[in-house]
Order: sequence, then structure tokens, then C-alpha cells
Amino acid sequence: MMRWTQTYIPTLRQKQTEAELISHQLLLRGGYIRKLASGIYLYLPLMQRVIEKFANIVREEMNRAGALEIHMSVLCPAEIWQATGRYQSVGKEQMRMKDRHEHEFVMCGTHEETVTTLIKGEVKSYRQLPMNLYQIQVKFRDEIRPRFGLMRGREFIMKDAYTFDATQESFDRSYQKMVDAYYTIFKRAGLDTVKVESDTGAMGGKAAHEFMLLVDTNGGEETILICDKCGYAANAEKAAFRDTVKIGKPEKPKPLETVDTPGAATIEEVTAFLKVKPHELVKTLIYMADDKPVATLVRGDRDVNEIKLKNAVGAIQLELATPGQIEEYTGAPVGFAGPVGLKDVPLYVDPLVTKLSNFIVGANADQKHIVNVNLDRDFKATKVIDLSMARGGDGCPMCNANLDSKSGIEVGNTFQLGTKYSLSLGAKFLDAEGKEHPIIMGSYGIGITRTPQAALEKYYDDKGIIWPRSIAPYLVELIPLSMENEGQVAAAEKIYTALTEAGIDVLMDDRAERPGVKFNDADLIGMPIRITIGDKSLAKGKVEIKARAEDKVELVAVDSVVGAVEEVAQRLN
Ligand code: ATP
Ligand code: MG
Repeated sequence: MMRWTQTYIPTLRQKQTEAELISHQLLLRGGYIRKLASGIYLYLPLMQRVIEKFANIVREEMNRAGALEIHMSVLCPAEIWQATGRYQSVGKEQMRMKDRHEHEFVMCGTHEETVTTLIKGEVKSYRQLPMNLYQIQVKFRDEIRPRFGLMRGREFIMKDAYTFDATQESFDRSYQKMVDAYYTIFKRAGLDTVKVESDTGAMGGKAAHEFMLLVDTNGGEETILICDKCGYAANAEKAAFRDTVKIGKPEKPKPLETVDTPGAATIEEVTAFLKVKPHELVKTLIYMADDKPVATLVRGDRDVNEIKLKNAVGAIQLELATPGQIEEYTGAPVGFAGPVGLKDVPLYVDPLVTKLSNFIVGANADQKHIVNVNLDRDFKATKVIDLSMARGGDGCPMCNANLDSKSGIEVGNTFQLGTKYSLSLGAKFLDAEGKEHPIIMGSYGIGITRTPQAALEKYYDDKGIIWPRSIAPYLVELIPLSMENEGQVAAAEKIYTALTEAGIDVLMDDRAERPGVKFNDADLIGMPIRITIGDKSLAKGKVEIKARAEDKVELVAVDSVVGAVEEVAQRLN
């Protein structure tokens, strides 16, 4: 199928300092990708083959599920994004430009607006539904922190599918079909995934799930909470939990007292100084929600879940206030904010705070805290809303067991969009009685470039990549140890032809390199099966066959290589 000297595999010996993740490191060193600009990568021949293989699995399973492949434009007129409100809400992640006539366009990071506009003009009757349209195509998002190579690029490839249904029951079937197809797709790519509940984010809509690849490396950007007992699983951003921290009985309110806490600003410092537990303290954090300050109050042992906060205040942009802003709103430096006497800043209070009495807060004064604070007596909550981030060890919200925390990579997701897009863009159909309704929609993404890199966070060793066989660029790497040895070259050509005729993807390392160089490169680029042709075994009419994932080397006759490869492949992931 391919000879090393005829293709382009620029492997690198040195560690690449720009790559924090093992998967990114291996793709660079294996000659799979090169960076053009921040978050923008070029896919070299081996990567292109991996992408094609994974995309084909996705395509086959989408087609099997009844989805229809289309191709939509990368550019989209800004007006339809304005109509859904996402021109505003997506913000800076969206690349925008003007054409020569000063018409505004966006580069699509997703295609709900485009596909709904397509359907709106075409689908008129319930008889044309349900429908599922998908594409495998380039997306552009000006990510705030592009990093980790293909994992979080600015330009990347996605499979995005969109379903259109007339009734909720029909939608539920369409959604389930996609969920089933997703499990199959990832399984075929050698990946076990976990489906978790997730926030709907910028997509809006009713509910959403993410497909996560759980990893033990530092490559997992997402924290997932899982209950082994009942199967509850959610992204930490979304997870509900049962608080199991033992809190004392409510006490009689004691008089307020301002105390000096010199040098104590963080929770650790304050608890150490005042000799209290973190949960006896209330943490006040000031955020800027679309340039307006909001204060959040959570128990000292809890972290604020910014997604829950963002949803609760309905903000497009949310970030922690800067030290300067904190000083402006509280009159004190960072670490001493508190709710008592805080003016003109709404106070969002976590329900766990409402169970505390005589607690400690910052005094809005440098080096001071207030003790014996009580909600309602000393300050009023603007709103009580769940703001706490769930964490490993918390109680499961669905049963009496505890949640486990894992890290994972989101490789795909599914959104129940409801009628958000069909209403704002006017995609309606007539039912059997001639009554008009908005179409019920879903959208479904898979990272076509992210997923293969994610796989490498699981499948590697200290020598390099170990591809799952279904997405490997070639199943076999064939290595004649010396290209000057006529017998070896003849055997290599024979095996190369036999494998190719059997439909097996094979890469022959026909370089005039030393065996050590060839072996190192073979281990680095990670084809699942290696066949080595050397003098000693060839004298007996045999060659060596070895799986990349195994240590064992077998000898097989030159004539039975095809069968042997098929046998080894069967036991591989
Ligand atoms: P994330 O939370 O990781 O930013 P997302 O929720 O923005 O993902 P979607 O908009 O639903 O993701 O995109 C669908 C799929 O596309 C994701 O599941 C992921 O596999 C992939 N994807 C999303 N953003 C990127 C990116 N910046 N680079 C590479 N792949 C991406
Ligand atoms: Mg994103």
C-alpha cells in the first residue's frame, strides 16, 4: 500500500517542549501533525489516514442509523445568527468577517442556524419528518485557550448531525438512535465511553449528554462524577449531589463581632488563625457577569460552580472580578469580601449556607473578618440558588452511595434542543389536522480530530503510540532489516503484495536505515502489527510477527503471513 520512501513521515527524536500532553507529544514526534498557528494544525499523511478511518466509522454508523450526509458551507450570513440571538451569546469564540460588499459573515463553529434555515424552506408537512441530516466538516472557533494540539484547536473537524421531529415521542426515538450509534462508533474505534449528563451551554435547549473517554493522564479536561451503585453520571459542571458534611445543630444567634485576622486571607489561613473548620466559614467571591458585579456565597469547604452561576444570572460572559474591581466594590483587598454591609451588589447564596448559624465572613475591611454572622439578621440573600461544585466523596443525588470523581475527555455530545432554533428561525410543519407547529430538534457532535488524539491518552507506552487497529493508519508495518540484502527485499516484496491483495493496509519501511532506527520509528508511529524480515529466520523461510501492544514475537512462514496477520489482528483492540 505504501512505502516509507514514497510517503512523508517526518519523525522527531527530541521531546517537543510545546506539548504538555503525551498524545500531543506523540503526534508531533510521530510526524502526524504540524502546527501552523495557535490552535491551527496541518494533518500529515499518517494523520490524514487516521482521520479518514475514524470518519468512515462515523459515516457508516450514521448512515446505518438513517442519517443523511450533506455538506454545509463554512461561512454563514450573520443575520441568521442574529435571529437566534447567538450572534450575541457566542461572543468572541465566533470568527466574523465582511465580504467586499460589507455583508457580515461568520465562520461556523456549529451549524444549527444553517441547517434550520435549510429545513425551514423545504419541510412543510409532518409526512416529511422525522429527518436526520449530518456532515463531517471543518469548524472554526476562536477558543479562548487553544491547547493540547488537536484536542482543543481553533480549526478542527466535527461530525455534526441534526434531527427534526414532529412529536416528542418521535424525537425521543431519534435521540436514542443517536445515543446507540455513538456507543457503537466509539466501541468500533477501540474506545469505551461513558455517557454523562451535561450542561446545555451555548447550545441552549432542554437537556444534554456528553460521551466521555475516561483517562488516567493529565489529558482529561473534564471532571466527571459517577455513582457505581446506581449509575448516575454527570459532568461536574452539571452534577447534583447530596452534602454529607456534618454540620452542627443551628445555634442561637450571637452578637456580631469584627475580629482582626492579620495576614489571613485564604480559607486555609483564616481557618488556621481562628481555629475553625472550613465549613464554619462562608466564602464570598465577587464575579463580573457581563460587566456587572455579583457576589456569591458558598460554604468555606466548597467551590463555586461557575456554570451554575452563569446560568442562574443569565450572563453571557462571567469572570472573577479583578483585585481592582474587588477593592472598588468591597472597599477591601482580595480575601476580605463579605456580605454584611455590601452595597449595590446582588448576593447569590448557596442553599448549604442557609443551614449555618453564627458563621464567619470577610468584613470588607483589610485584615478583618466578622464572626457570628446569620443570614436574614445580618444580610439578605438576593436569591438562594445551588452554586456548589460537586466533588468526589459527595453523596449521590439519586441513591445512598457516594460519587466517584474521574477525569475524562469529551469526544461527543448530544443535545435536546427542543424548539429554540425552529421558533426563532420559523421552521414549522403542518400536522395531520393542518395545524402549524415548530419542529422539535436535536443536535449531535463528535470530534473527528479530537477523538483519535484522545485515544492516544490511553494507548501508548514509553516508546510511542499503540493505535487501536480500526483507526491505525496502516494495520501492518513491514520491516526488511537491510535493503541491500536481495533475499530480504524479495521476501518483503512478496509479503507486501500478498497483504495488499488481501486488503490489509501495510506500510513498508524501505529506507536504507539501520535496524535500530527502523524499530524506534515503528514503535513511535505505532502500527498495531510489525513484521520483521531478517537473515536468520529467513534462512528457515520465516519472518517475525509481533503486535505493538505485546512483547511476544512469533515466527511464521513467508507464505502464511496473511493468515497470521489476520489471527493477531483478531485479538487486538
Ligand atoms: P468543549 O466543552 O470541549 O469545548 P463543546 O461542548 O464546545 O466541547 P460541541 O460544541 O458540542 O463541543 O462540539 C461537539 C464535539 O466537537 C465535542 O464533543 C468535541 O469532541 C469536538 N470539539 C469541540 N470543540 C473542539 C475544539 N476546540 N477542538 C477540537 N474538537 C472540538
Ligand atoms: Mg467548547
